[in-house]
Amino acid sequence: MNQRKFATVINCMDGRVQIPVLEYLKGKYGVDYVDNITEAAPVKVLAECENEVQLESIRARLKISIEKHGSEQLGIVAHHDCAGNPVGKEIQIRQLRKAVETIRSWKFRGEIACLWVDENWRVHEVENQWQTE
Ligand SMILES: [Zn+2]
Repeated sequence: MNQRKFATVINCMDGRVQIPVLEYLKGKYGVDYVDNITEAAPVKVLAECENEVQLESIRARLKISIEKHGSEQLGIVAHHDCAGNPVGKEIQIRQLRKAVETIRSWKFRGEIACLWVDENWRVHEVENQWQTE
C-alpha cells in the first residue's frame, strides 16, 4: 500500500470555504488528503483562549492528525463574512497571528500556513511560519 500523505487544517465550519481551502492546501503541500478540523470562527477561539472545552477539542483532533496520519503541515483559516466572527479583516488577521501562538504553545513543530479567504472565496496566504528552535 502506498504511503498517503496528510496535512491538516483548522477551518471555519462555513460551507463556502471548505473546498477552496482543501484544494489550496493539497496543492501547496502536495498531499493526498487534508484532515479537516472545523469550528465556528476558529481564529477567534484560538486567539481569545476563553473556552477550554473547545480548545481541548481542537487540540485533541490536531494530535490525532499528527500522530495517526503523520501530518507535519497545518493551515489556519480566517475568512470574509464570518458569521461567528463579524469583525473586519484587520482584526481577523491579528487573531490569526495569535492563533498561531496558541498552536505553537501546544508544541506543534510543523509548518503553519495562515490563510485568508476573500469575498470571492479565493485563498490568500497571510503568513507562513516555520518552527525555529
Ligand atoms: Zn466563519
